[in-house]
Amino acid sequence: MTKYDVPDSESTVEKKLYQHGTLALLVPGLLRGTLTMQQLLQHGDTGIGTGEGLDGELIILDGKPYQVNGDGGVNIVSGDFTMPFANIHRAHYRDLMDLSDLPMDEAYQRIAEKVCAENTFYSIRMSGLFSSMTTRAVRKSEPPYHTLVETAEEQHVFKAENIQGTLVGYYSPEVFHGPTVSGFHSHFLADDHTLGGHILDFSVAKVHVKVQMFDTFEQHLPVDDDEYMQHDFSADDVGSAITRAEGQTKKD
Ligand SMILES: [Zn+2]
Repeated sequence: MTKYDVPDSESTVEKKLYQHGTLALLVPGLLRGTLTMQQLLQHGDTGIGTGEGLDGELIILDGKPYQVNGDGGVNIVSGDFTMPFANIHRAHYRDLMDLSDLPMDEAYQRIAEKVCAENTFYSIRMSGLFSSMTTRAVRKSEPPYHTLVETAEEQHVFKAENIQGTLVGYYSPEVFHGPTVSGFHSHFLADDHTLGGHILDFSVAKVHVKVQMFDTFEQHLPVDDDEYMQHDFSADDVGSAITRAEGQTKKD
C-alpha cells in the first residue's frame, strides 16, 4: 500500500474513528468524566483515552479496557468508569510492515511514508519486541482540576527495556491539532502487564505494524456538561499546551 486506499469490502463502521471529548477541553482542566466505558465500547473494540480527573491512561485491546493507573498498575475498568476523552474504532487492521532497530521518530516516519495519508486519520497497531519503552500515567486528581500542563507535570514516568507488548496509536492530520494532537498519539500495554500508559518515547527492536485507514472522524461532544458548554476557550493556549502535554513527534 503506497497511498490512501480503503478497500470497498470494508464496512462503513470500520472506516470510522469515534472520539468523545477533545484534547482542547483537557487544556483548561475540564476533566469531568462525561461518557461511560459501556457507552464508549458501543463504538468499537480498540482505542485509547483517559479517566475522569486524568485517572490513568487507557488502552482498549480486543474489547478489553485496560487502565494503567498513576502507580503503573494495570487493571480492567468497569462499564461505569467515566472519561473526559477517548478514541475508539472497530478493529480491521491490515498488515503494513515489519520494523527493526529504530528510534520512535524514525519508526513513525517510516510508517507515515509508507501509509502516505497525511491528511486523513488512521490507526496503527504495533506488536513485538521494543528495546526501550517510556510511558507516563497520571494519578487521578479531584476538582477543582488543574490545567493539562500542570497535571502533566505531575505525571509518573515508567521505563522498561526489552519489553514485549502492543502499541495502539492514532495519526491525526495537522488541521485537527486542538481537537486531537496532530501526528501520532499512542498508548502501550506490555504482554505481561508490567508496563503501560501514554507513550513518551520508545525504540523498536523487532515489531510488526498493522494499519487501519479511516475516512470519517466522528466527534462527540459532552453537551450535557454545563462547565464545558459555558467555558470560554479563547484565553486557553490550546495548540501549544497540547503539544507540550500530549505531543510525541516533533513537527516542523
Ligand atoms: Zn495519551
